[in-house]
Amino acid sequence: MRDLAIVGAGPAGMAAALAVAEAGFSVTVIDEQARAGGQIFRRPPEAWGERHGNYRPYPWARELIEHFEDHPAIEAHFRSTAFGVLHDRDGAEPAALELAVNTPNGGRRVASRRLLLATGAYDMPVAFPGWTLPGVMTAGAVQSLLKSQKLLVGKRVMLAGSHPIQLILAGQLLDAGAEIVEISLARDLPGLFEMAKALPAIPGHVSIFAEALRAMAKIARHRVPVSRRTVVSEARAIDDRLEVRLSRVDAEWVRSGEDHVVEVDVLALGYGFSPSTELARQAGCALCWNSAGGGWTVSHDAEFRSSAPDIFVAGEPTGVAGAERAWAEGHMAGLSIAASLGATVDPSTLTRAKRRLASAARFSTVMQTMFEPHRAALAELSCQEDTVICRCEEVRNKRIEAALAGNPFIQSANALKLECRSGMGPCQGRYCEGTIAARIAKARGASIEQSGRFNAHLPVKPVPLAAYRDIANEPEIS
Ligand SMILES: Cc1cc2nc3c(=O)[nH]c(=O)nc-3n(C[C@H](O)[C@H](O)[C@H](O)COP(=O)(O)OP(=O)(O)OC[C@H]3O[C@@H](n4cnc5c(N)ncnc54)[C@H](O)[C@@H]3O)c2cc1C
Repeated sequence: MRDLAIVGAGPAGMAAALAVAEAGFSVTVIDEQARAGGQIFRRPPEAWGERHGNYRPYPWARELIEHFEDHPAIEAHFRSTAFGVLHDRDGAEPAALELAVNTPNGGRRVASRRLLLATGAYDMPVAFPGWTLPGVMTAGAVQSLLKSQKLLVGKRVMLAGSHPIQLILAGQLLDAGAEIVEISLARDLPGLFEMAKALPAIPGHVSIFAEALRAMAKIARHRVPVSRRTVVSEARAIDDRLEVRLSRVDAEWVRSGEDHVVEVDVLALGYGFSPSTELARQAGCALCWNSAGGGWTVSHDAEFRSSAPDIFVAGEPTGVAGAERAWAEGHMAGLSIAASLGATVDPSTLTRAKRRLASAARFSTVMQTMFEPHRAALAELSCQEDTVICRCEEVRNKRIEAALAGNPFIQSANALKLECRSGMGPCQGRYCEGTIAARIAKARGASIEQSGRFNAHLPVKPVPLAAYRDIANEPEIS
């Protein structure tokens, strides 16, 4: 049995693995990607012969990745999906946590004394008529293809949303030769008062601001039209292009009437990110609602312990807060885990870790507050009868409305799931949970938080049936 198993080899998982391995403990890391780096440092395939990708504006990334990959006490398994936590099934002594993992060689168990969930985030989905059409993508997906495959998704691209990732992505797309037809921002540009409030966040994070300014200069140089206070309200397929309808909204993102239409190859949506909490939910960790932090986040104490015994959490599942905070949280969680395993942590290391975390938190809190999406207004975009809400089970809005009108006892996302199958497909509700909760909230006069969330069950991600057979029969991962 190893001392620590980690799910996720992003900044949080890598930093934690190093802290624990350097304290003399064994660490196994599981990640479904092909290489370490997480969502933000997507690297080109190993076969291309390049060890590193472009890590701007995070100068620490190169060293972190090299230390992680070269550390002899860290065993990493890539292209491997953790699909559930099996709690101490046989009452084994000492009690072990067991992770069910689908590897390239089949299903395997990973037993460990501690488990860290550093599972990151995914693009926040927004449903509107046409959001499931080919060519409608998320900003993260467009960026991942560009970073890891050097692939441009289309020639004429439109970016829409509210998250600052859109600025960075615009700069990257222009560098790659795309024509950006328009950038549509749901919010206004920050005013003087908002900018003044953001000033305390800048010290220590100059490179991130410099990157954003560089991207803005590029956008201006290419004369890309930027529309403010507009949201995408509809996309239609015309031959092999998309016709995108942009609607004017007020400060709360409620539509105010004026529309205009733009033709593009690809529409990239970036309203923010949602924490990946499915493993934490299935493992029985308590969650709390934090709209600015991306929605449902995993509750934890100052040592990054979740409410479930021996399960820790770090990075985006605690609230979407960017790569620096994920790194700082992972490091802090790693020191806590090492201490819980019996190591003596040098007080000056702990002080430095706390300082770094506080600085990252100052920055991320400003960003979260500034760019928090208006969830209820976005959910209104899916109110037409035939709009698909749950894309896996093809549940349309009229089915949701009929269920809510016909059964007054449906008060929660889980109840609606049982009635309509929304959230029962391969994505397990990652795409529809937010819209469903907002729809219930509106119908019942409740808040999105009160409408609740979906439970998660094993398998939390799609895996072949053979993986189940293997975890019962095969030896542990090696
Ligand atoms: C597509 C995308 C693009 C982004 N681009 C930017 C950007 O340009 N700038 C920016 O500041 N932020 C960006 N972000 C936000 C970014 O996630 C964070 O800033 C940072 O990467 C968080 O680090 P992390 O370690 O918490 O998680 P991540 O870096 O997301 O790492 C989590 C890892 O866990 C793995 N994982 C999750 N679940 C499982 C499972 N069940 N089994 C196995 N492996 C699993 C994932 O494959 C991933 O590698 C992006 C996010 C996404 C989703």
